[in-house]
Amino acid sequence: MKIVQGNFKFKNSLIPLNPDNVKYIILHHADAKKATPEAVHSWHLSNGWAGIGYNEYITKDGTVYIARGDNIGAHSANNNSKSYGICLEGDYDTEPEVPLVQFEALVERLKYHKSRFKNLVGIEPHSKFNTTSCPGKYFPLQKIKEALNKAHDLESAIDVLTKHGIINSPEYWQENAVVGETVKGEFAGSLIIKMANELRK
Ligand SMILES: [Zn+2]
Repeated sequence: MKIVQGNFKFKNSLIPLNPDNVKYIILHHADAKKATPEAVHSWHLSNGWAGIGYNEYITKDGTVYIARGDNIGAHSANNNSKSYGICLEGDYDTEPEVPLVQFEALVERLKYHKSRFKNLVGIEPHSKFNTTSCPGKYFPLQKIKEALNKAHDLESAIDVLTKHGIINSPEYWQENAVVGETVKGEFAGSLIIKMANELRK
């Protein structure tokens, strides 16, 4: 996964976002099939905002752009100071598929943010908070939540196997035994979970 620290020129100075105040990660789509982060930045400037409103932006090639980062965003009215907004390039009201690399990058970022936002309550679509169809009717929210649950199961299984001395490099397996995304990863991930379940008996 490629992470790019965005170099956006904001019109006003941004206000830091306190990670302890983040209750929700709010998911968006760009509502455009093709949109570079720079394009989104200029659209939001023309709305009269300081600049790109999302905290992060993920393009269809799976590149993660840190936009506002840990500064208060402008992506969900009334919720910006207690949420972190991640936007995906694409129009998922008309495009039925989120590209796999983009999906995987989002899941990776959600795993990372879940571990650092200690008071997180939920990962929610923009439409839960404001009157909008964002992030689109085809946005795979359920699949994203399933992938996060599986990642969590795998993580605790790797812990069990590490404690039993079966795995010596848990970081390697965390990174490479992704459940359900690749044939190879699925095999390794499922095997690890089955072994851990046996050991737990
Ligand atoms: Zn939105």
